[in-house]
Amino acid sequence: MYKMWTLTEVRPEGFNRGQNVSTDLEPTLAEDWIKIQYWECNVLGHRHKTSRAAAACIVKRKGESGELKKLTRNLSMMRCLRKGNSITSISKQHHCSDPNVIKAVNSSLNKAWNISQKNNGAPYDNRTWKIPDFTNPTRENELCFLIGILEEVEIKLKELTK
Ligand SMILES: [Zn+2]
Repeated sequence: MYKMWTLTEVRPEGFNRGQNVSTDLEPTLAEDWIKIQYWECNVLGHRHKTSRAAAACIVKRKGESGELKKLTRNLSMMRCLRKGNSITSISKQHHCSDPNVIKAVNSSLNKAWNISQKNNGAPYDNRTWKIPDFTNPTRENELCFLIGILEEVEIKLKELTK
């Protein structure tokens, strides 16, 4: 969602600091290059000092403010699917169509997989989740792993929108 971006200026070809050091007593104008580190929110020109500030900036932006609501809804759908509730009861509860339930949960689970892949490499293959997968004991660990990631994201978003 946000990343720390390190900007490192490249020294021009042939630039060598040692060669610029004066041996006489006249002051010499020295030139050096500095490295800037800041937290990026993906808005051009913004350079945030802390990750919290960058994340708060992201959450405030239009379109992203709905992320928490969407995630909370999708997690609730997943919990219902794990309980074996019928898809019709879930879609009714969330005022959406039956196919949208499975689409929504897949979109969140896919995001979780991408997060784990980016961090340490996902321990499971990415898959399209189907309704019976949610009550299949052989998928239990995989599902818990991905839901755990989403719950962490939910906590972070909640803190930021306080
Ligand atoms: Zn910003």
